[in-house]
Amino acid sequence: MNPLDAPTRVGEPSPEPAPIATVAVLAPLEKPLSYAIPPLLREQIQPGVRVVVPLGRRRALGVVLEVACGKDDGLRLLDEVLDAQPLLPPDLLNFLRRAAAYYHHPLGEVLRTALPAGLSSITTRVAILTERLYRPTPSSVVPPGTRQREVLAWLRERGEASLAEIAAQFPAPHAVLKRLVELEMLSVREAERRRDPFFAAPPPADARPTPSADQQRALELVLESLAARRFAPMLLHGVTGSGKTEVYLQAISATLGQGRQALVLVPEIALTPQLVARFRARFRDADQRVAVLHSGLSDGERYDAWRAIARGEISIVIGARSAIFAPLPDLGIIVVDEEHEAGYKQGEGWRYHARDLALLRAQRCAAVVILGSATPAMTSFHRARTGATAYLSLSERILGRPLPEVSLVDLSGRRLSGALAPELVEALAENLARREQSLLLLNRRGFAPFLLCRECGATFRCPNCEITLTYYQSHRHLRCHYCDYVQRPPQQCPDCGGTSLDPEGAGTERLEEELAAAFPGARIARMDRDTTRRKGAHQGLIEGMELGAIDILIGTQMVAKGHDFPGVTLVGVVGADASLNFPDFRSAERTFALLTQVAGRAGRGERPGRVLIQTYAPAHHALTCAARHDYLAFYEQEIAFRRDLGYPPFGHLINLVLSGNQPAQVESRGAELAAELDQVSAGVEVLGPAPCALARLRGRTRFQILLKAAARPPLHRLLAAVDAWRRKLPRTLNLAIDVDPLDML
Ligand code: ADP
Ligand code: ZN
Repeated sequence: MNPLDAPTRVGEPSPEPAPIATVAVLAPLEKPLSYAIPPLLREQIQPGVRVVVPLGRRRALGVVLEVACGKDDGLRLLDEVLDAQPLLPPDLLNFLRRAAAYYHHPLGEVLRTALPAGLSSITTRVAILTERLYRPTPSSVVPPGTRQREVLAWLRERGEASLAEIAAQFPAPHAVLKRLVELEMLSVREAERRRDPFFAAPPPADARPTPSADQQRALELVLESLAARRFAPMLLHGVTGSGKTEVYLQAISATLGQGRQALVLVPEIALTPQLVARFRARFRDADQRVAVLHSGLSDGERYDAWRAIARGEISIVIGARSAIFAPLPDLGIIVVDEEHEAGYKQGEGWRYHARDLALLRAQRCAAVVILGSATPAMTSFHRARTGATAYLSLSERILGRPLPEVSLVDLSGRRLSGALAPELVEALAENLARREQSLLLLNRRGFAPFLLCRECGATFRCPNCEITLTYYQSHRHLRCHYCDYVQRPPQQCPDCGGTSLDPEGAGTERLEEELAAAFPGARIARMDRDTTRRKGAHQGLIEGMELGAIDILIGTQMVAKGHDFPGVTLVGVVGADASLNFPDFRSAERTFALLTQVAGRAGRGERPGRVLIQTYAPAHHALTCAARHDYLAFYEQEIAFRRDLGYPPFGHLINLVLSGNQPAQVESRGAELAAELDQVSAGVEVLGPAPCALARLRGRTRFQILLKAAARPPLHRLLAAVDAWRRKLPRTLNLAIDVDPLDML
């Protein structure tokens, strides 16, 4: 350390041992740092509080991990303590330390990811949004002034109102209100302002059905584990509409009854307004507060929510993957809905998986975990098979509603004039004639996946990424779905000068056009990332479906997720094969899950549903098993293949992704790393380096080295060698460590 940085001390240097704080600084440092504690701050320092510390020449934020006695010679003094109470309760802090070790990620970065933005930086000052609320007191005295009488009469009529609401009725009411408060005719309080879209409408009515026998069995296990306060992971496997959500609701109700709190994780919060509404309806009592953590919250709102949760004022937190860090003080149950969804995995920075963290966290606080899915991840089902997780199945739809009949429409050897086969067109026509709703899945947005030169076969690629540009008719442009690069479509092929450049293949935009031409009278809507960018647009489409204002809804996988539209009796899948051809060992698993999900949207109401799937691979087990609603048969085939190749759950993977601006440098350094690892790789297979499937992304060249082993310890030992190598890496190169990678593009 530079002696000039050493703080000047007042008084004698003490020869006695002094308290020293171990601090995880919120920066990409490998290890926590030690700081001396100025005497004035000693009372306030405890594990879990945030502190400001000197780091090099700047000041940085950190979290205290430990306070111990030692020799503080040469240690710098920490500057400031920011929290009176630990912001991170001990079990949450322990959990995050374990998580950092598991993912081999710096603890400071882990903490920064876990804390809401407003709490993880010293420069942002969070504005807490509050408002003043005025309420008439029981006094029946009549005030002297006319304006005072008017305002008071209005408030007595209405009850409590905010300053903004009063000002909307009476211009400049401040003086009048102040006087009325002085006269003790009004009381005033400051309250947190809630502008949350999830709380805009009043909750719907709640029906609390009597559990079915299957549901009852699941609930009994939950109750037993809660009573014993033990860690109890369970897989709740139930087809769509079998009553999983009802199990969550009743299990949570029992947890709250025990005085503990609940955490509900969903893959994408913006897509789940229906689920949130059901929770609000069930837990509407004032003392059972539900908080929804979503990306639309401002930093201030997130900060408020985090504080309220930490104080124990919130009973239920619902949110996407980062909600796994919510500081609930006595967490009794974690629900992971649609546990198989890829959205639980963070794609960059700290690449954690929220479902796996849910298990880790629940273990630390002796909580119940319910993993719910109609198509459990292979790894989750395997754990249930081997007894590591309890297995609960809801084998039928509620009220004995049949699952829809699924037919595969074989496209091999056929040439279609558009994206739709005649069978699907006919089925759509029948549904329209019966005034029933249809849903079409095409998992590709834009007009066409590429623009093709008819003369030389050239396509157009993004200059920053190794990806063809998607053609948008509506905007007359080509766009990269990875980096948002946009260009005008050229008039001539830059390779051969040819002038017949045609959009090839179909995306949702083109499908919408094709449908509008085929069914001029139909009310058609489209749901994909392009049409739901605007605030409220997604909600508008859901309402359109609920109210029957839409006949045909087309969309990407967004339409497959979680919705409950009882009016839908036909589901069509246009092009089910695209996801099968992904260069990834999980492509069959993903395809099966998506098809099963979307098929589950049909026939949820009183009329039975049917499903048509267009495919070039009608014999593939992902399709045949999805068509028969046969999860088990799919699992058996797929697990055999995983066993043969040593893929999860039989082996463990860590993916190392090396990226940089200079292709030659990335390649040679990648080879160097692989060679070094090869020498110390006992028990681990080192595969690569190989260019990633996305060999260039946002202008950076990418190579990967895949580490594969039957057990985890040798993998983690190998990471020590990776660390040593990484320390010598020039700044122009980046090495990302992805433990349990989900996709390897
Ligand atoms: P999932 O989450 O598995 O899709 P839900 O919990 O949403 O299933 O249940 C589907 C429908 O059945 C919902 O409308 C729900 O209110 C209703 N339901 C759930 N359990 C019961 C029950 N035991 N008796 C009657 N209706 C039920
Ligand atoms: Zn790009």
